Formats: sequence, C-alpha cells, structure tokens
Amino acid sequence: MSRTVALCGFGLVMGNESCPELAAYRIEARTSDARQVVLHLCSDHIHRAWHVAQLAIDKKFPAENLRVRSIHLHQVQQRASIAEAAS
Ligand SMILES: [Zn+2]
Repeated sequence: MSRTVALCGFGLVMGNESCPELAAYRIEARTSDARQVVLHLCSDHIHRAWHVAQLAIDKKFPAENLRVRSIHLHQVQQRASIAEAAS
C-alpha cells in the first residue's frame, strides 16, 4: 500500500531556504478574484502561512499583482494518506 505524504513547501516557495519536515497543514489561499494556491507547511512554518501564500500567488500568477484575501488551514495527519490534497 502506498502512502502520500507531503513535505513542507516552505523551501519551494522561499527558494533560498529548505525544510525537511513533513507537512502538518494544508493551506488553501485565495485571492479576491477567486484564484487559488494550495500549499503544505509544517508546524514550524505555519505562522508564516500568509507570507508564504502571498509569495506562492506571486509565483503562480506573475505580474498580476494579486493579493491573498483569505487563507484556510486544514490540519493533516502526517502518517495518513492525503491523496485528496492533489485535487
Ligand atoms: Zn517547514
């Protein structure tokens, strides 16, 4: 049986840092025009969620100057399948 575990995405977004931790939270960030990014962050980096989400939006939609309007946090079980996060 296979397991899907997500690593903390902090390093992917920040670029110059990395984090080897498993994700403890899935973050769905939305802009005012309903565009969305999904991130995974560990418990050490969850307090940076807003900043990381804004950077992720900037990377995904460059030059559009979008602003994160809302963030939804979903705690994930680190040993459980989080295959639904792929949607
Ligand atoms: Zn982390």
